Amino acid sequence: MSNPFDLAGRVAVVTGANTGIGQAIAIALARAGANVACVGRSDPAETLASISALGRKAIYIKADLASIEPVARIVDETTAAMGGIDILVNNAGIIRRNDAINFTEEDWDAVVDTNLKSVFFLSQAAAKVMMKAGRGKIIHIASMLTFQGGVRVPSYTAAKSGLGGLTKAMANEWCAKGINVNAIAPGYIATNNTSALQSDETRNRQILERIPAGRWGQPDDLGGAAVFLASSASNYVNGHVLAVDGGWLAR
Ligand code: NAP
Repeated sequence: MSNPFDLAGRVAVVTGANTGIGQAIAIALARAGANVACVGRSDPAETLASISALGRKAIYIKADLASIEPVARIVDETTAAMGGIDILVNNAGIIRRNDAINFTEEDWDAVVDTNLKSVFFLSQAAAKVMMKAGRGKIIHIASMLTFQGGVRVPSYTAAKSGLGGLTKAMANEWCAKGINVNAIAPGYIATNNTSALQSDETRNRQILERIPAGRWGQPDDLGGAAVFLASSASNYVNGHVLAVDGGWLAR
């Protein structure tokens, strides 16, 4: 039997692949055999070098996903350079922190536009290519705040909770067309996104005490779940949000 996790010859698009979780996922997909288009506003030189060192093709598509303006170009450039799109990982995201009572419209729009609106329209554009091929894998990067309320991050919670619903809505419409739409909900992972929490001694201690695994997650901890959801091993998995959280939600 062939390896159900094998991604040889597959083309993946990973947004925000220059650092953190996106970088780790892009490299994990390449290690499983995929060629990767790294999409983002910052040059992912380190990621491209790691993917090339694995013998896979890697390209950079410069795009700012604060708006949906680059969406069509991302799909066009990927298909032109790589021959199609088999896997889309919607990882790019931002967070803004403030008390809900003082939260500004700017902080609301910036987060919801990047973390939810662009995810929907990039998925829609990629799904049109996938539907023609009769197969595809879309993976959203959700959050613990897809399930919980969080503190001082109302636009982030709204966007990530919305992503949970969108995962199911897209799966319902697209799974019969051969497209699996699922999400990964990372727990507390040590990246730039959580640097404010890591450097706040009290919050850091409170978070660590609540994680059954007793440690922050590392970006590499997400690789296995991403390969699973990108591969034929997950062909009958649809609309699922897979927590990779060291047991946080189990507590
Ligand atoms: P990160 O290191 O800050 O990475 C975020 C990535 O998104 C960067 O590549 C960033 O590019 C990119 N990005 C942000 N805004 C963008 C835009 N407008 N256009 C294009 N790219 C943009 O944080 P991370 O923790 O790896 O976050 C990755 C994803 O995981 C996010 O969706 C985040 O919400 C989610 N997540 C993280 C955690 C955690 O504990 N770390 C937990 C749950 C979910 P630049 O380098 O150019 O800013």
